[in-house]
Amino acid sequence: MTPSAVSPPVTNPQALQGDGLGCHSGKEEMLAAARAAGKSETLEQYAKDYPKGPHDQPQSMCPAFGSLRVGLRMRRTATILSGSACCVYGLTFTSHFYGARRSVGYVPFNSETLVTGKLFEDIREAVYKLADPAHYDAIVITNLCVPTASGVPLQLLPKEINGVRIIGIDVPGFGVPTHAEAKDVLAGAMLKYARTEAEQGPVQAPRGGKSAKPTVTLLGEMFPADPVGIGMMLDPLGLAAGPVVPTREWRELYAALDCVAVAAIHPFYTASIREFEAAGRSIVASAPVGYDGTEAWLQAIGGAANVAQDRIDAAKNRILPAIKGALSKMPIKGRITLSGYEGSELLVARLLIESGADVRYVGTACPRTPWSEPDRVWLESKGVAVQYRASLEQDLQAMQEFQPDLAIGTTPVVQKAKELTIPALYFTNLISARPLMGPAGAGSLAQVVNAALANKARFNEMKDFFGDVGSGHNAGVWEGMPVDRPEFRDHYKKHVIKLEKKKKAEEMI
Ligand code: SF4
Repeated sequence: MTPSAVSPPVTNPQALQGDGLGCHSGKEEMLAAARAAGKSETLEQYAKDYPKGPHDQPQSMCPAFGSLRVGLRMRRTATILSGSACCVYGLTFTSHFYGARRSVGYVPFNSETLVTGKLFEDIREAVYKLADPAHYDAIVITNLCVPTASGVPLQLLPKEINGVRIIGIDVPGFGVPTHAEAKDVLAGAMLKYARTEAEQGPVQAPRGGKSAKPTVTLLGEMFPADPVGIGMMLDPLGLAAGPVVPTREWRELYAALDCVAVAAIHPFYTASIREFEAAGRSIVASAPVGYDGTEAWLQAIGGAANVAQDRIDAAKNRILPAIKGALSKMPIKGRITLSGYEGSELLVARLLIESGADVRYVGTACPRTPWSEPDRVWLESKGVAVQYRASLEQDLQAMQEFQPDLAIGTTPVVQKAKELTIPALYFTNLISARPLMGPAGAGSLAQVVNAALANKARFNEMKDFFGDVGSGHNAGVWEGMPVDRPEFRDHYKKHVIKLEKKKKAEEMI
């Protein structure tokens, strides 16, 4: 039964006013509303952890998808969303599109339940109903934009109910820039919880038992073969690969914390790194990609784990020739621009360059952090322009400027490239779905990249055949011949400029 509720210091009805309801507009209003509703501390921490700039925010999917996916992939973990129905529809649709095969709980609200604080009571009731230790280790409840802006105080939920841990997080689009960093919001919150548990007494051992060797925790979701490959590279150092964070199960969090070092394979896990550092673990930047990357990484990991230099050298002698051999067997020839939002963009660029590609530009939606510094320095020494927090415009500009033989990027970049008869590959579907690390990663990109590079002639043929059909005002399926109406566009443009001026004038009053 739900215990009698404390009266929550919620809600800011401002969040529901005007057109401030979504990511399409009203961000400043949402931020101001959230601050007024007591979320300043959370938002300040996010601003520190996930710095923006040089521009406001990359054009990316709803950030909450990142944390939602992390929770949905964990065993014995229930997920509840609190947000506008349209946001929840989009998020659940996308998670099932990506094969979640798990229900997503939803606590709906309306103006009244939000403004009176009843929404918090509804969430509380839902959490109590769900907290069955026979089924769950943890329940993750996420405030989306509107509940965050109106200050729904998830921190007032009990920390555990019947032994089921309750993790409440705010993941608003106006506070967390990318879905990548939202993964860190949840992973960091879980690590913090697990660290506190481990400090207080014995905790569950990993499912397969404790590793006989000291382990290295791997930070960042990666292709399933990569942790295995990394384990093989760690073996000659007397080390083993620990869990991958975000983990697939609650008990893995303890094993992740119980490591000799953390490999920040993906560089944007700032909150998680804070927890590892609080547990006294050292963090190693970059990843074992290509010859140079693997050499530097083995050295850094060996140093962090106090492995003797002759043992580190022996490991290098065993692994590096295999990488060199694999790279030279599968060369890549061509000019490439690359952009994405996964966090592994700089690593992929390193691998392409070592395979022989002429990479000119790397754009990533993620911020600059110390954990990708070795990659940035290495890439810039090869003349590559590295752009953190890259906007779509910057990615497209790079494509125009460098006229690549292949553009690797996000959906809109790939679309634009194809329009320009430039062969293109989706980063997320085609590049992230391959091993990148060590000998297995060397040469693994060549097949897909070379096949795409060879497509140029087909693009030219298609362009010759179709001409300008289906572009500009001709786009779409028509019954008659489409007529261009530049005067309509002109009229609309003037109207928008007038509205902007009016808005500015009102702001100055
Ligand atoms: S929760 Fe996501 S989809 Fe909804 S308004 Fe916020 S950023 Fe947009």
